[in-house]
Amino acid sequence: MIVLNLACRHEHRFEGWFASAEAFEDQQRRGLVACPFCDSSEIIRLPSGPRVITSTPAKESAERETAAAVQAQLHEAIQAYVRNSENVGGRFPEEARKIHYQEVPARNIRGVATIEETRELLDEGIVVVPLAIPPGEETH
Ligand SMILES: [Zn+2]
Repeated sequence: MIVLNLACRHEHRFEGWFASAEAFEDQQRRGLVACPFCDSSEIIRLPSGPRVITSTPAKESAERETAAAVQAQLHEAIQAYVRNSENVGGRFPEEARKIHYQEVPARNIRGVATIEETRELLDEGIVVVPLAIPPGEETH
């Protein structure tokens, strides 16, 4: 849909909605476009240019809100995990193994592991969740 700024010969200005500029021209030629104020069918299109109406704005904004909510929840989950876990840094594979084999009390840890180390841990049945923690969100 496009919205055209129209005016009649009495300079009454109004907006008209049309499927396309061609549709407007066709209807104008056939005298189907009339001024809502004086019913004149001598209509001209003002040069201010058509506005293009794309898909329904309400739906788009709902989708954007959903995406934002998911993003916020994820952010919240990461924050909670960071708060409730111990940063063991590069000792992560070693610590994960110790916890798995109950050499140390179970606790949440986070840290860094290479792809190779992660694969080894997974092979041993140790659950490792890759988590992208945004920089600057480390609390300790
Ligand atoms: Zn008019």
